[in-house]
Amino acid sequence: MQFIEALRLRSKLFFLFVLITVGLITVGIMGTLNIDSMKRNLDSLYFGSLVPVTELNEILQTYHGDLTSTIYKAKNYEISPSQTNLQLNNSLLKIEKYWKSYESHFKRADELEYVEYVAIEIQGTNDYFKKVLQANIDGKDLKNISIELLEKHVLHIHNILKKLIKYEIGMAKYERNRFLEKYNSTLTEVGIFLIVIILAVLVISFYVFKSIQNDHTRLEIITKKLKRVNKKLENVSYTDSLTSLHNRRYFNFIYDRELKRAKRIHSYITFMMLDIDYFKQYNDRYGHIEGDYALKSVAKVLNDTLKRPSDFVFRLGGEEFGVLLVDTDEASSIALAQKICDSVRERQIVHEWSKVNDFVTISIGLVCCIADDALDENALISRADKMLYEAKEGGRNRYVIATDITEANTKVIEALSA
Ligand code: GH3
Ligand code: MG
Ligand code: MG
Repeated sequence: MQFIEALRLRSKLFFLFVLITVGLITVGIMGTLNIDSMKRNLDSLYFGSLVPVTELNEILQTYHGDLTSTIYKAKNYEISPSQTNLQLNNSLLKIEKYWKSYESHFKRADELEYVEYVAIEIQGTNDYFKKVLQANIDGKDLKNISIELLEKHVLHIHNILKKLIKYEIGMAKYERNRFLEKYNSTLTEVGIFLIVIILAVLVISFYVFKSIQNDHTRLEIITKKLKRVNKKLENVSYTDSLTSLHNRRYFNFIYDRELKRAKRIHSYITFMMLDIDYFKQYNDRYGHIEGDYALKSVAKVLNDTLKRPSDFVFRLGGEEFGVLLVDTDEASSIALAQKICDSVRERQIVHEWSKVNDFVTISIGLVCCIADDALDENALISRADKMLYEAKEGGRNRYVIATDITEANTKVIEALSA
């Protein structure tokens, strides 16, 4: 059954369909052939034996009854000569008609010779009755007719016909038994064949459906694997390889989503833009590899400071980072920005060429406001960017916060870190 496994789902179902169809056609052909042969048996029983027996009996009855009794009645003047003519004539015609019909039926080879003999004897007996009829036509009195001769003729033909009837009855019995045997064996054959077909269909269906089930299970396993791989790929595509923070791609996705959510429920939304101070000088002084270590350290500070599941930290590019907070009011946002500035500095990453401190510092521009429908998605970023610029202009190592998106309402709080 390995070849079933190898078939595709559609081919498996097609195979099952073909199997069932072939099975049904075979049962149909077998049934038709057997019914046809049984019909032939029945015909042979009926027209080969039963009808001939009836016809032979009719002939016998005509000899015994009609012919003999007509002569007896004529002899005793019970019927007129013309009635005698008519009855004798009719009886002889009747015998000839039945005999012709009997002869026309199928005859077995062993039967033919005897049938020919009976035909001659019937002819002879009929000739005797025709002579009597002729005498009556000629006006002769039938009173003197020999009863002895009449009975001799009738008895003779009686014995011959009885023998033929006995043979036909024997044949009828034989045909009937043959028919019953054929009927029973056909029933058994069709039964066995049907059972075999049903079993074959069951077994093959079982294998086909098991194979379909296996396909399905395999497909489920592959789908699960694919989902896992996709998830991994998605994570990779959303992660910055240097710092393991979320990357700009993820920022674009999350920023859009969180902003819409905040707008819906009118909650606080905070966006921070962070930039390392004098980082170009840091690279120049310590080299790019050290610069990368410094970037990782800053990333770690951000991760350690912002632990809520709803806090998002991104590396937006170069030495710029982004922080997105939801449901965080001004005071909390300020506290976090302050903490980030302090924590970065407190890591004491020596920066000899910095003009603001002995260690690496960062500047933060942040916007914290209640999200509403008027809040433009680009405005939040550009406002934070502007605040960052102000923090840089103001002397770096600090944060500047705007609590409203419109410039007219800007409330800038500068917090200089120690
Ligand atoms: P400012 O205080 O005005 O921000 O001065 P800055 O020197 O930091 O100026 P700017 O922000 O323009 O400098 C960006 C520098 O960051 C340039 C480049 O040397 C450095 N940088 C950007 N990406 C990477 C990085 O992936 N690794 C390292 N090591 N350095 C980077
Ligand atoms: Mg920069
Ligand atoms: Mg910088």
